[in-house]
Amino acid sequence: MGRRLPRRKKLIKTAALRARARTVTHDQTVDESIFDDVAFAKAGLELAERQAGYGAWFWSLPTNSFYMTPNACAVLGVEEGISEFDSIMAAIHEDDREEVTNKVRLHLDSRENYDLACRIRRPDGEVRWIRARGHVSTDAAGEPVMFAGSIEDTTYQVETLNELQRSEMRFRSLIDSAPFPVVITRPSDKTLRYVNQRAVELLDELGKPADTLSVPDLMADKATYEKLREQLLTKGTSDNFELALRRSDGTPLWLLIKGLIIDYEGEPCAYLILLDVTERRELEQQLRTQATSDPLTGVANRTELLSQLEFAISVSNRTDEGFALLLLDLDNFKMVNDTRGHSVGDKLLVETSNRLNSLLRTTDTVARIGGDEFAIIARHLDKTRGVTVLAQKIIDSLAAPFEIDGLTANVGCSIGIAHYPWDKGDPELLMQHADLALYRAKDEGRGCFHMFDEELSHAVHERMDLERDLRVAVETDQLFVMYQPRFDAETREPVAGEALARWKHPEKGLVSPGIFIPIAEETGLVIDLGRVVLDQVVSDIARWRELGLDVGPMSVNISPVHLAAGCVLEDVFGALKKYNVPAKCLQVEVTESTMITDEESASSQIKALADAGIHILIDDFGTGYSSLSYLHRFHAHELKIDRSFVSNVAEATSAILARQIVSIGKSLDLKIVAEGVETDAQADFMTAIGCDELQGFLLSKPIERPAFEELMRSKAERVAAVAKA
Ligand code: C2E
Ligand code: MG
Ligand code: MG
Repeated sequence: MGRRLPRRKKLIKTAALRARARTVTHDQTVDESIFDDVAFAKAGLELAERQAGYGAWFWSLPTNSFYMTPNACAVLGVEEGISEFDSIMAAIHEDDREEVTNKVRLHLDSRENYDLACRIRRPDGEVRWIRARGHVSTDAAGEPVMFAGSIEDTTYQVETLNELQRSEMRFRSLIDSAPFPVVITRPSDKTLRYVNQRAVELLDELGKPADTLSVPDLMADKATYEKLREQLLTKGTSDNFELALRRSDGTPLWLLIKGLIIDYEGEPCAYLILLDVTERRELEQQLRTQATSDPLTGVANRTELLSQLEFAISVSNRTDEGFALLLLDLDNFKMVNDTRGHSVGDKLLVETSNRLNSLLRTTDTVARIGGDEFAIIARHLDKTRGVTVLAQKIIDSLAAPFEIDGLTANVGCSIGIAHYPWDKGDPELLMQHADLALYRAKDEGRGCFHMFDEELSHAVHERMDLERDLRVAVETDQLFVMYQPRFDAETREPVAGEALARWKHPEKGLVSPGIFIPIAEETGLVIDLGRVVLDQVVSDIARWRELGLDVGPMSVNISPVHLAAGCVLEDVFGALKKYNVPAKCLQVEVTESTMITDEESASSQIKALADAGIHILIDDFGTGYSSLSYLHRFHAHELKIDRSFVSNVAEATSAILARQIVSIGKSLDLKIVAEGVETDAQADFMTAIGCDELQGFLLSKPIERPAFEELMRSKAERVAAVAKA
């Protein structure tokens, strides 16, 4: 059954096709066997197209017979039984028709397959998308004999694709206009695949053109970038990374980067968000600097020094390389500050830190840890030569005059040195060691340095042990009191006594007060110790009163630390009250130094004691700086001339001084006691110059209570015997 190409309204209008169609129509040589079993062919086609979801048509040119499968008719939305190729062309959407016509024509000319997508308009007006493919078969002479093809409704795929494109567009525009930089990179070759608008601006700031850039060019901090890349490749996502870059104007730029692996244009790429956190980093840095540096000089402060020490110790433990800690005290600073004013003092401190910095390496640390105290951590120095050379250099440098505001100031410094790992310990202990060495340096004279050594180390450990044991001692019964009698200078009879604390250490035996009193004062334990002594002494006085034994007044030593704590009155009156002892039975000894330090608080307490009838004795008189006005203000009743004058009376100067002290004391109506009398000559001399009482090993060493009682009892017997006679 032949079908002719459409006569009117021919949609395939090429002359060539018309000519060929004519030719084929008259060509009886065409093998028509292929149409022999049309029914079979139709059935096969229908089955195939149902399964593949498309419809087919074919047009035998020799017979001009056209057939379109029911599926193809369904795609076009037309009734089955269409018998013309033009019906297909008529269904093409009017806007696409011309283009499709051209394409089909082109394919027919070239005899190649065509494959195109276009819209159709169904009879009911519905527009749908189809994919149309076709093929022209030729005979042996190369003439077209069969034109066949398929149409497939692709509306769903096209719409899905369109939707996908639309959503990609939306995504793109979101990312494009994101207020933070986004870059997409390909981890395999580290190229930049995409940069959004903000990223372009960022790269501009960095002076790096986006189009020529690979990621390593962008990330100056390669190590961090590699870590980020590795995390992305292994986990598909990354932690927050912070990178430091530099803008083209030299200012720093801190980026916080978070990454994620996404599928970008069909391949796995890293999607990186870059946040500018420079402001936050700078604020953090500012806070860190404030917390770790000295505001005046800009060098490290104490906190930073301790953390640097901690770090230096850990490095030294790993590397076996030592470091030195130098503590440095300006020798004359206080005077400059007081006489020239604080602003000169401040400038001097700044200049000091500049001089120190100029002598040290960048790996070293300079810190200001107090008013005029500096500390240095000097790394990579050997203990003996390196450190001493450096210490001397510092001393020389600071000994040079300081020119400030047109004035010249001379200061100089002393240095104490601890060296790790020779001096083991934590930062605090190292500081203590260097501090002790500094004290030793000052003792040796200004402008010296001293290294913490074996001897100091031994002293420190011994002191630490004693401190620990003393804490136990004041709580237990290891402390007790001995009494040293005082004798009337003329009669040489015992007339009073001084209570002296003793410590019976469980292992070391008797420890001298010369050793434990300073420790007790430094640690504040002397307050507890003072209470123990007061309790013991006042309870003994009560006992002697009960026994009817006249021992005369008994003095106790009161530490300036105890007075400074402000609880002496409470403790003294508390003890007197507890044992019901009158105040006049007790005396207190205070040293000259008490009068100099914390004058107000000490003098008011001493006055209250004196007002209550307690005699005040100025101990070790002549060794301090006490003036006559002090003696008056402190309501002193007695002076105890220091042992150093007594033991040297053979020397003319000491004798003159002793004489002077006695005469001043006498003129102030004070009783005079000579301490530390060891020889008859001393006793006679002190008596001759007018001392009222003598105390010393010549007449009696400090003795325990029974011996003291025995001494006083036998004196009472002698007095009684004399009275009887
Ligand atoms: P101090 O108050 O000047 O006591 C006199 C010191 O001289 C006592 O030493 C005594 O044993 C010693 N002494 C007495 N006569 C002689 C002598 O002829 N030759 C020599 N070489 N020394 C003599 P001690 O008991 O070792 O006490 C030393 C210092 O410890 C005392 O000096 C006092 O300042 C302090 N101290 C002792 N007991 C106490 C106490 O209970 N409380 C306080 N706060 N300090 C105390
Ligand atoms: Mg004393
Ligand atoms: Mg004394």
